[in-house]
Formats: sequence, C-alpha cells, structure tokens
Amino acid sequence: MRYACRIVGLTKEYALKSETVRALRGVSFDVPEGDYVAIMGPSGSGKSTLLNLLGCLDRPTAGNFFLGEDDVARMSDDQLSTIRATRIGFVFQSYNLIQQLTVVENIEVPLIYQGKNDPDARRRCRELATMVGLGERLTHRPTQLSGGQQQRVAIARSLVNDPYFILADEATGNLDSVTTEEILALFERLNDQGKTIIMVTHEDDVAQHAKRIIRLRDGLVQSDELNRERILCRREVVERAGLST
Ligand code: ADP
Ligand code: MG
Repeated sequence: MRYACRIVGLTKEYALKSETVRALRGVSFDVPEGDYVAIMGPSGSGKSTLLNLLGCLDRPTAGNFFLGEDDVARMSDDQLSTIRATRIGFVFQSYNLIQQLTVVENIEVPLIYQGKNDPDARRRCRELATMVGLGERLTHRPTQLSGGQQQRVAIARSLVNDPYFILADEATGNLDSVTTEEILALFERLNDQGKTIIMVTHEDDVAQHAKRIIRLRDGLVQSDELNRERILCRREVVERAGLST
C-alpha cells in the first residue's frame, strides 16, 4: 500500500509562562493514497494544531510525520515552506484568492512560485478550471464569482501541483447548504479519481461524506473508523442504478 502520509506518536506542546499545554499527546494514523478522511472533535481537542502540522505550517514537539519517505518533523524551515508550496493542496474556509487575478491566473499561482509559467502550465490550469466546472469563467475575477465558484477555483489551485493530499479546513463553512453539497460532490468526484483528501470539520453532515472519520479528544485519537453510513449509502445507489453484479 502507498501512503499519502503517516503519523507516528505525534505530540505538540505549547510552553506558556505558567504551564505547558499539551495540545497533541501522541497521535498516530496512516492515510493511504486515495483515502478521504474527516477529522472531527470538540473545541480544544487539537484539530487546528494537527492541521498546522499536516500542512507543514509548524513542527511537532515529538513524533514522526512522513510525507512519502521524508520525515517532515526533521525538516528545516526552508524545506517546510518548499513542501507547503509544492506538495500540499490547501483549501480554506475563506478561499484565499488574489482579487486582481483571473480564475486561470489564480490557479496558476503555485506554479509561478516555482517559476513554471510556460504554455503547458497555462493549459493545465485551464483544464483544471474546466474540471471544476469553471470552463466558461476562465477570465472572471473573484468578485465576479459566487462563493461556491470561488471555492472551486481554490480547489483547482490546490490540485495544480499534484499534491500528496488536499487539506481542507472547514472548506464549506462559508457556504449555504446547496452550495455545500455541490462542493462536497466535487470532493467526492476528485476522490473517486484517486485524490487523497483530509478535511477538518465540526459539522457531522459534512464529515458523513468522507470514507473515514477520525475523532480527536484531549489531544488523542478517540476513534478512527470507516464511515459505514457513506459506504452503505453508496452501495444502495450503485444497486439501485443496477450497476452491481
Ligand atoms: P481545536 O482546533 O480542536 O479547537 P486547538 O488545536 O486549537 O484545538 O487547541 C488544542 C489545545 O492547545 C487547546 O487547549 C488550546 O488552548 C491549546 N493551544 C492551541 N494553540 C496554542 C498556542 N499557540 N499556544 C498555547 N496553547 C495553544
Ligand atoms: Mg480550531
């Protein structure tokens, strides 16, 4: 089995004046390529801390975090920022698009950081825009798009570097319920195509779209389970469509 990432005994402590906060107290899990994981947990359980580590925005106090063969926990700041810019696809609640740039140009941003702005790169960005349903909006700017469309741009941008995984942080938090379903359907389609997705959400409805749900509590993994509801639901859809043998 190939893994998008592997986490072994990850701890994160914050040293304050009066005390040391142990935000993560030994978290371990593997994410195989093609998985779709939702990370949940009550406020203060360590979700943001774990997200920062997964996104290479911070280093753990102890433990290992392997991306491919490389242990991120041992990397320098420069190596971390290179990994962040080139191998992780971020999708945030607030889209984080550049207002002055068009749809295609926004998708292209991570490539330009690497000096890849040749015609091939441009074509790939147009293809990604089309794949997320924005083929007719290539030269629109963010202000000319709905929230759902802006999030589609962010998702296309997250894929441009062929990342280890898409890291989605409350990606549907700003969207109405219909648009939320559209974005979740897009994630599902990308996952069906083999993209690995790790999302943090506090909404059970959203998490139910994932294949697997990891629940944190007090800095530990409380449960790590296949999402049976989704599996059963998809089996029913397949059977109803007469697709099963
Ligand atoms: P969640 O995102 O699940 O609400 P966090 O990862 O933000 O949880 O926080 C986990 C614990 O670590 C909490 O007790 C929080 O107060 C503490 N914490 C988070 N960030 C810091 C920090 N920068 N300095 C000190 N304590 C922190
Ligand atoms: Mg948080």
